[in-house]
Amino acid sequence: MLTNYFKDFLKLFFPKNCEACGKNLLKSENILCSDCLYNMPKTYFHETKDNPLNRLFYGITDITYATALFYFRKASIYRALIHKLKYKGQKEIGIELGRMTGQEIKGSFFDETDIIIPVPLHTAKKRMRGYNQSEIIASGISETLKKPVIKNVLIRSKYTETQTKKSLEERRTNVKSAFKTLKPELISGRHILLVDDVVTTGSTLIACADELLKTKNVKVSISVLGFAVQ
Ligand SMILES: [Zn+2]
Repeated sequence: MLTNYFKDFLKLFFPKNCEACGKNLLKSENILCSDCLYNMPKTYFHETKDNPLNRLFYGITDITYATALFYFRKASIYRALIHKLKYKGQKEIGIELGRMTGQEIKGSFFDETDIIIPVPLHTAKKRMRGYNQSEIIASGISETLKKPVIKNVLIRSKYTETQTKKSLEERRTNVKSAFKTLKPELISGRHILLVDDVVTTGSTLIACADELLKTKNVKVSISVLGFAVQ
């Protein structure tokens, strides 16, 4: 892949640092040093159908399986990974964490999913940021799971301001009907793997799932990088 060649090319000139602790990386290491990789607070939610992430959706929307790669805690060094991916343009972090997710969930319940849909950004927001981080993560997952990413079917039609200062109820109303499905025939009868960066209240994923589930015979499972906990 072109991105890999480009990365190797850059590595010749710039020594890389661990994106979590800052330590110099060995040639064999990618974005994380072996200590940070080993100590990553993984959730292993993909091993159980009934887990704390899936419980967020019980009685609200119909999610088949849900998993997160790691716990996303306030003071954690792993928080920097998401921050750099979302706000610093470090897309390689998203690709690599997506690949790790794919390796993790391969051979689990998630084998039943057949297409990958990233949570969309509003076009105005995507233009500002230059990319959608969920699409980047999805491409890494797709590379390992060998399942296609379907973009531009689920779209964000409503521009919503930042959710962080809002209550759960406000967040839900805010994103409700923010998403639309174009060409439902492309997802009909499919088991969709919906991909996002971090889940806190789940309101965005709920709104996406509600929209996707309007199409006939659709199942929705969820894979995120970080599961926010206190
Ligand atoms: Zn490290």
